[in-house]
Amino acid sequence: MDREKLGRKNRRDTLIVIAIFLALVIAASFGAKLFNPGYSREPFQRTMFVLDDYVTITAYGKDQSRVEQAVDEAFRELQRLQGIFDRYDPESELARVNREAALGPVQVSEDLWCVILTGLEAYLESGGAFDMTVGPLVDLWDVLGRAERGEPPPGAGDIAEALELVGTDKLELDHAARKVRFSRQGMALDVGGLVKGYALDRAARVLRDKGIENGYISMISTDLTMGDKPESAGGPKWRVAVLNPRGEDYMATLRLPGGTYVSTSGDYQRYFEYQGKRYHHILDPRTGYPAEGVISVTIVGGRDGAWSDALSTAVFVMGYPEGLNWVESLEGIECLLVDGTGKAHATTGMGAYLEEAPRDIEP
Ligand code: ADP
Ligand code: MG
Repeated sequence: MDREKLGRKNRRDTLIVIAIFLALVIAASFGAKLFNPGYSREPFQRTMFVLDDYVTITAYGKDQSRVEQAVDEAFRELQRLQGIFDRYDPESELARVNREAALGPVQVSEDLWCVILTGLEAYLESGGAFDMTVGPLVDLWDVLGRAERGEPPPGAGDIAEALELVGTDKLELDHAARKVRFSRQGMALDVGGLVKGYALDRAARVLRDKGIENGYISMISTDLTMGDKPESAGGPKWRVAVLNPRGEDYMATLRLPGGTYVSTSGDYQRYFEYQGKRYHHILDPRTGYPAEGVISVTIVGGRDGAWSDALSTAVFVMGYPEGLNWVESLEGIECLLVDGTGKAHATTGMGAYLEEAPRDIEP
């Protein structure tokens, strides 16, 4: 055989070997399925962009196809909620309420009513730091739009005008009829401070209804651990990292039991800079400006997702030390807060979750 023919034959032999190998792999995995149908050691994981953030559901279960179906269904539930709460979608229920509630009382769905009630509670408990009627102020600041266009912050006159339309005390709620009314034209509900936490619970309920007991739902700024982490995956506790708000690394790691909520509010995700100053998306309803004095707040615990999410926003606005002291007085809830100078502070009970002392950061 000449050299060229020999080369071709070698290549053909190699291809045959690869084909046999692939056939064996396929047969082996098919065999494994037959003997152990649907069993999977690895969790099933899926990420989707919904409710304005990347949501990742990690679910453990014996039957892979059932786990997959459950996760699919949980995402469908999140999309349904997006259809209610996305106030920038003119078709959403919230957009309709914002258009109509100044004209007269509007009856709302049970989902929206639940969120409004938690928002009201957060407003009352936080002394007004949490206020879901910040809509006009959020629109005026439009931090992402200003970031894109390189615009300066809004003027003091416009801020004062928007503030006239902010105040949960300007909402009229008819509890018996589940109706909402705005006392002023131009008011707008913005549930961005707690809706992800609400959605987290709805997604978890779908997973549980479908038989998934162990998993982790991450909505970036609000997470929930479900049941124990399987021993084979390093459980029973879940290891959760708290991002360094000024870097790519972590400032703390937590070990959490099942059924624990973790919510973070920070000045580093949505903001614009103008003449060296940072303007972020968490607004102080008392001043009309982005809340000052805090870089990030992480809340651990809480009775439900919406409350945990609302708390992180509320504590961020309340600032240091007021916000931290407030959480110290709440049963079953802990807080890790980075103040404006980069110093980390934690409530006393936080030690039970922290793997080691949180480190301060460079502001
Ligand atoms: P994330 O959006 O990252 O989950 P938060 O939970 O802190 O962060 O929510 C911030 C959002 O809450 C803002 O984008 C805005 O929609 C809304 N918001 C801003 N300021 C307040 C406030 N003082 N009270 C309630 N909601 C607020
Ligand atoms: Mg929040």
